[in-house]
Amino acid sequence: MPMYEYFCRRCNAKFEVLRSMDRSDDAAACPAGHAGAVRTLSVFAPVGRTAPGGSYERAAPGGGCACGGACSCGGH
Ligand SMILES: [Zn+2]
Repeated sequence: MPMYEYFCRRCNAKFEVLRSMDRSDDAAACPAGHAGAVRTLSVFAPVGRTAPGGSYERAAPGGGCACGGACSCGGH
């Protein structure tokens, strides 16, 4: 069963919930008991991309980050 990360806007808590895919968009209750936490898109996304860290380190030599110019790092 996949794990999803949720965010509670009431107490700013992030937490993870194991649930089936067809329920992934349902609101969840946070550890503090607030209903209505929403799913975030951060954690569970290792689909088709290079391994975490691999591409980043390859782009790092020479200075600058691995953003490819998309972030606010100020250029390379
Ligand atoms: Zn909460």
